[in-house]
Amino acid sequence: MQKKMNLGTLCVQAGWAPKKGEPRVLPIYQSTTFKYDTSEQMARLFDLEDSGYFYSRLQNPTVDAVGAKIAALEGGVGAVMTASGQAANFYAIFNICQSGDHFVSATTIYGGTYNLFSVTMKKLGIEVTFVDADAPAEEIQKAFRPNTKALFGETISNPSVNVLDIEKFATIAHKNGVPLIVDNTFATPVNCRPFEWGADIVTHSTTKYMDGHAVAVGGAVVDSGNFDWELYHDKYTMLTEPDDSYHGLTYTKSFGKAAYITKMVAQLMRDLGSMMSPENAFLLNLGLETLHLRMPRHCDNAQRVAEYLQSHPKVAWVNYCGLPDSNYYNLAKKYLPHGACGVMAFGVKGSKEDAIRFMDSLNFVAIVTHVADARSCILHPASHTHRQLSDEQLLEAGIAPDLMRLSVGIEDAEDIIADLQQALEKL
Ligand SMILES: *Cc1c(COP(=O)(O)O)cnc(C)c1O
Repeated sequence: MQKKMNLGTLCVQAGWAPKKGEPRVLPIYQSTTFKYDTSEQMARLFDLEDSGYFYSRLQNPTVDAVGAKIAALEGGVGAVMTASGQAANFYAIFNICQSGDHFVSATTIYGGTYNLFSVTMKKLGIEVTFVDADAPAEEIQKAFRPNTKALFGETISNPSVNVLDIEKFATIAHKNGVPLIVDNTFATPVNCRPFEWGADIVTHSTTKYMDGHAVAVGGAVVDSGNFDWELYHDKYTMLTEPDDSYHGLTYTKSFGKAAYITKMVAQLMRDLGSMMSPENAFLLNLGLETLHLRMPRHCDNAQRVAEYLQSHPKVAWVNYCGLPDSNYYNLAKKYLPHGACGVMAFGVKGSKEDAIRFMDSLNFVAIVTHVADARSCILHPASHTHRQLSDEQLLEAGIAPDLMRLSVGIEDAEDIIADLQQALEKL
């Protein structure tokens, strides 16, 4: 494929380039296994001496084509597709952290990721320190220890919709000799490509805008290839020293810039699974083909809805980085000049019961545990997704008890506003 194509073309074309007589459309390779002619050919695959498919727990052609498309969109050297966004964030950290290690994360992150980091990773002996992403660099620096292996944040946090200062985070990470991992789910590469701002690894819940139709749960980890693991040889021995489970192969020596992502397939997928299914990859690919068309529509609609809500007397507050009085307006201008996303947070005046009455009065703006797809939807994190968190943890995660997360879809903005209006009138 020709080099340096624009983003919209990559959305449609990247990842699958059929040769003579092959299907024009990416086929679903619904096969667990792949055939070889000789025992020797198969043996070379198991030694990572040849690349090729042998078992769909590790790699599958449909899934790989979609991974290649997402890697192209982000500008990375490779991507691993996972069964969910949760698996993607787990793999991104677990690929370079083991028992006894530590990493630093922004506090304002998705609730599922917060639980994963603070509860489940801890059980594996991996400790996290949460930091206020808006704090000055000197403050964030205090969280680093000699055994710190990574820094993590979300481009636009779910559900508080704060915008991350990616350059600040990248500078802190690199000063401490660790990679910056950015969950780019809400922005998508159409609106922000974190590698251009110094991030080293990008993760996605492809369940959201990338799929865009709420049909397939999935995730992705993308490697920029830019982090120099050998410069910190002793810190990242899992990449720079021989792997006993592959006859002493060393990832940095054998795979260079693709060391991190190759290890993820060869070790984590082999041992833990969590692979995206070929059928889900096929559906995700259909979504990706229109990502560049849908994102601007989500952003335009959200801007109009945010302005409407802000002007409404029954609305207490609106947090949307496209509003000039948002704390994140300037960061959004810098990192998301073409629009942020369709998600906003807001509260109505009155009690928690008023918020619930408002939601129950909506017609097509549906109450669902989802976000970032074609259909407008709404959720009250304190009573839904984040109900496991204490009030203190909620506030730390930037979630006010009255916060409603509104995900603006790609319907007509007038109709979305009309639905919100009739529900506000019932308050
Ligand atoms: C939804 C989400 C996740 C988790 O993804 P799943 O696909 O639901 O497992 C991770 N990060 C962010 C920012 C999300 O919005």
